[in-house]
Amino acid sequence: MKVASVIVDIPTRQTDRPFDYLVPDEWEDVVQAGMRVIVPFGTRLLQGFVIDTKSDTEVEKLKPIHSLLDVAPVLNEELLQLGKWLTETTLCFMISALQAMLPAAMKAKYEKEIHLIQERIDHLHEDVRLFFGDRTVVSWREIEHTSLLPLLQKEIAKGHLEVVYRVEEKGKKKTAKWVELTSTAEQTMEAMNRLSAQAVKQKEILQFLLENGPSFPLKQLLEETNSSLSAIKSLVQKKLIVEKEIEVYRDPFADRTFAKTSPLPLTEDQQRAIAPILAGIEKGEHDVFLMYGVTGSGKTEVYMQAIDAVLKQGKEAIVLVPEISLTPQMVKRFKGRFGSKVAVLHSGLSLGEKYDEWRKIQRKEVQLVVGARSAIFAPFENLGIIIIDEEHETSYKQEENPRYHARDVAIFRGRYHRCPVVLGSATPSLESFARAKKGVYKQLTLKKRMNDKALPPVDIVDMREELRAGNRSMFSRLLFEKLKDRLEKGEQSVLFLNRRGYSSFVMCRDCGHVIQCPHCDISLTYHRVQQRLKCHYCGYEQAVLHRCPSCESEHIRFFGTGTQKVEEELGKLLPEARVIRMDVDTTSRKGAHERLLNEFGEGKADILLGTQMIAKGLDFPKVTLVGVLAADTMLYLPDFRSAEKTFQLLTQVSGRAGRHQLPGEVVIQTYTPDHYSIELAAKHDYETFYEREMLIRKKHGYPPFYYLTLITVSHPEATKAVAITDKIVHYLQKQLSSQAIILGPVASPIARMNDRYRYQCMIKYKREPNFSSVLRKIVDHYQQEINRGELTITIDLNPYMMM
Ligand code: ADP
Ligand code: ZN
Ligand code: ZN
Repeated sequence: MKVASVIVDIPTRQTDRPFDYLVPDEWEDVVQAGMRVIVPFGTRLLQGFVIDTKSDTEVEKLKPIHSLLDVAPVLNEELLQLGKWLTETTLCFMISALQAMLPAAMKAKYEKEIHLIQERIDHLHEDVRLFFGDRTVVSWREIEHTSLLPLLQKEIAKGHLEVVYRVEEKGKKKTAKWVELTSTAEQTMEAMNRLSAQAVKQKEILQFLLENGPSFPLKQLLEETNSSLSAIKSLVQKKLIVEKEIEVYRDPFADRTFAKTSPLPLTEDQQRAIAPILAGIEKGEHDVFLMYGVTGSGKTEVYMQAIDAVLKQGKEAIVLVPEISLTPQMVKRFKGRFGSKVAVLHSGLSLGEKYDEWRKIQRKEVQLVVGARSAIFAPFENLGIIIIDEEHETSYKQEENPRYHARDVAIFRGRYHRCPVVLGSATPSLESFARAKKGVYKQLTLKKRMNDKALPPVDIVDMREELRAGNRSMFSRLLFEKLKDRLEKGEQSVLFLNRRGYSSFVMCRDCGHVIQCPHCDISLTYHRVQQRLKCHYCGYEQAVLHRCPSCESEHIRFFGTGTQKVEEELGKLLPEARVIRMDVDTTSRKGAHERLLNEFGEGKADILLGTQMIAKGLDFPKVTLVGVLAADTMLYLPDFRSAEKTFQLLTQVSGRAGRHQLPGEVVIQTYTPDHYSIELAAKHDYETFYEREMLIRKKHGYPPFYYLTLITVSHPEATKAVAITDKIVHYLQKQLSSQAIILGPVASPIARMNDRYRYQCMIKYKREPNFSSVLRKIVDHYQQEINRGELTITIDLNPYMMM
């Protein structure tokens, strides 16, 4: 008897355990851990993951597996272990962890097919070849219940066949038409001679295929030989050539060529930094390295040379970069060095495109993945290095279940594969820098910028002074003078506005009433193009108002998005300046981001104005001025990391100026010029910032001195939400040690969302061995209310969002 332990796709506490199913005889050799199956559950049929197989069970009435979704495991042994670990460390359901590791296309509706792999056709088992006949694709349904299944599975394992999930709508495999000669060169030449004298084009095509074939993409062939489809059709009719469909990957960079680059001779600093990494690669040792070096100090070059060493060993590499800095420039650097060995994974790809990249990894067609957070789950089996660039970025933390941090996953995988994990940053997170100081991570330092380019001088402008001097504009006199100067010299400027705290809203000028969402405690956002007001939390929207709902006044003021406002004011003050605005509105279309940047790079504008999205990775030679319009917009958010985030952002933005021949300058406008995060960012002084901030964290008991967990309770009734949070706090007080600090209950910073009231409590602790089980008990206790949909309890261990 063969029994499969299956995790079913119902994310609830009661179903968060393996259920046993009988493996029908016909699939006995087929079913393995890591495959997805359909199983009967109650009265339903559900998807599930086989996580284990065994020969016995205590379950009495064993139901059989209904059908198979995979013939080969989609999760390997390592990823199954990782899933278990995610469940334990983030308190998520096992099913959420398993699903998080697969591309979204595999969760969508799809048809499964088995494809022949042309190059391997000679190796294919006779019976399988007979079964395919002259087909190259058979549908899964056709083979599911035949005796051929075990054989097919072996062929898949050997790489002779492939399983393809044909995702409906946009996820379809993309094919291109090719043509191919049907006979040998000699026969073709004979045939050419027999063609009539008028068939010039046909002869030309055959000649071309003899030289460049035997097969060739149709479209290109037509272009190269300057012929029409009718010539092709005649040749097909004469059976001299055939047309066929060949799969092409939806490669978003397909139409681009990348100039090949070679490794640069490393500087002494770089050599010192790379040596221990190379030693780790050589010996197969796991260590975590923190590579601390300012922007432009040559970190990326070090990454690439370390990856080179890994690929030479025949192993694989993962490079994580924040979504926002996964710019075309970044992709170009890796594609330029590693060519077709690279897969790129980012959120700009469609479901199908992501799935294609994932398949390239699974088929071992690529050895390197460059991608955002979820690329950490790339199904490589022989990892040689994992690199996380800009390791301090909070986007590495996933804000939904499983609430994992990519850094922790990287370290899990690094340990498993015994390979180095490299964290790089100019402004490391306090947690990581503290670990490096304690020797938990190994610190590598790149002190200087390449070419010894000094970091640009930074002026801090006190906007209160401007106001006192009668300047009500959003540009200080200094910044305005400098902008004008650049314009005259034909140099470029970048203006940066932090989006947060600047979202557009609607206010009555008579009574000060701000239009709020009726379901959430948050003001509605004004969308100028559509003339609508929208809630960014629950999706509520309404038409714009022309009369104040509170006092009936008609003096309603629409505050456009920050960037729109700045653009308008620029138009008044510097009408001759050509401005490119980059924000969510102007970059929502696919490819818009890249197009705008290219235009700026080509000098089609004088000023690039934007939000966070322009803070990173940009590298334009003619930019000599960077202006930060309001440095303190996020300083007072209810978040203990607000000073750290402000420092990181200002440092990053300042790094954009003067990276090349022309010297750069930075102007930071602020209402709090004395704040240490602003002062020290202006001095490019990370280490002093680190010391100051550590003192504050210590004093207030925040990470890295304490661990933090945030519990958020939401309920349609405010009194219920308070009462439950209160009970949880009392329970925690009894269960945890006296060292743990429990804060709350308090209303969340966004106290109501989607008509649900939100309360929270925060736990600070150093060592609580029973913490996980205590938290699980809390959730178990409220299971019924949670299942009824009234109550939600969100537990975030190590939160990055405090709202
Ligand atoms: P970071 O990743 O720290 O910002 P980069 O690796 O991008 O730094 O390096 C900054 C610039 O210096 C790049 O243009 C890069 O090509 C160049 N560079 C890096 N290493 C070297 C080297 N060893 N010799 C010459 N130029 C280098
Ligand atoms: Zn009013
Ligand atoms: Zn709302």
